[in-house]
Amino acid sequence: MTDDFQRSQRIETRAIHAGQEPDEETGALMTPIYANSTYKQDGPGDHRGYEYSRTGNPTRTDLESNLASLEGGDYGRCFSSGMGAINTVLNLLEAGDHVVAGDDVYGGTHRIFTQVYEQYDLEFDFVDTTDHAAVADAMGENTELVWVETPTNPLMNVNDIGALADIAHEYDALCAVDNTFATPYLQRPLEHGADIVSHSLTKYLGGHSDVVGGALVVDDEELDEEIGFYQNSVGATPGPFDCFLVLRGTKTLPVRMDRHCDNARALAAWLDDHEAVDEVFYPGLESHPQHELATEQMDDFGGMLSFEFDGTLEEASTVIEETEVFTLAESLGGVESLIEQPAAMTHAAIPREERLAAGLTDGLIRVSVGIEHIDDMTADLQQAFDAALE
Ligand SMILES: *Cc1c(COP(=O)(O)O)cnc(C)c1O
Repeated sequence: MTDDFQRSQRIETRAIHAGQEPDEETGALMTPIYANSTYKQDGPGDHRGYEYSRTGNPTRTDLESNLASLEGGDYGRCFSSGMGAINTVLNLLEAGDHVVAGDDVYGGTHRIFTQVYEQYDLEFDFVDTTDHAAVADAMGENTELVWVETPTNPLMNVNDIGALADIAHEYDALCAVDNTFATPYLQRPLEHGADIVSHSLTKYLGGHSDVVGGALVVDDEELDEEIGFYQNSVGATPGPFDCFLVLRGTKTLPVRMDRHCDNARALAAWLDDHEAVDEVFYPGLESHPQHELATEQMDDFGGMLSFEFDGTLEEASTVIEETEVFTLAESLGGVESLIEQPAAMTHAAIPREERLAAGLTDGLIRVSVGIEHIDDMTADLQQAFDAALE
């Protein structure tokens, strides 16, 4: 639980202080890395809140409190990966339950839904979550969860969290939002009526491409206890060093995100004007189909964008091979700029016809805009475009 004073503070202050009191014994400013599996008890069951580190660890507790505060929720739970967090949401369901999810969710989310949980008799429907009539149509008596991502990958579609939570609640279903792309600095799904916020800490919250982790944040005590039961029973919990790294990351989340957003905005404008680029997908552009919704729902538009390079699959591959400031890699959200080609990498498993129908063209390039200098980014892309079109 965060106290009232802390609740009234701005996110920049909470990012640094929430859940992170100086160590009582030593005054150490930073949360120590509590590298122990077990804890001394004064008598059987007479302990100071910690018995065993799968169940709870003080470094993890500080991170869980910090993340809960950032999302404006009461309870946080951390996992060893974003997928560990998503898995735990599915643990809340029973055989025969039905889930409605976006048709452009993260690939790993689609995989765990269809290739892991369908075999345990959960049912999934993937629909265009910008089409609320389609979402309502997909809902049924046994729908227990609506899974929302916004903005989505890689076309940066923006979904209306409030409207989708309302549809979920009409059916007594939970609404979970994967807030990895936006981060709580830009968007807080609980404020819009979502029940669960899910994160891959691997991305912006960690922020330095040096740790894999996940988290869930909720407002409801009973729901948190249920999540805690599965967190402990399944055991996909993070180690203390990983928690320490994410805590180190969240302190600078606001300043990093400001730069990510400024750079992405400038890069989107540059690409939008470029003759070698057919289309730019960035919610901050007025031409984006959900620009208005993004303006209402988000405090800024984030550091992710994609664009359609006017060339073949091979020419687009040359672009991403030739960049030097942008590193060719999957993942996102670190301080360094990354570049990838969905058709040849993250979405290569989707048959070409299906991929094209979903708008994932051969020339589509996705970038995670880092916090380097914008002029170096545009110069780098220009030389890579030149090399590809030579
Ligand atoms: C990366 C990612 C995940 C999965 O997180 P891991 O930490 O890689 O397990 C889930 N959702 C989104 C949107 C992601 O980008």
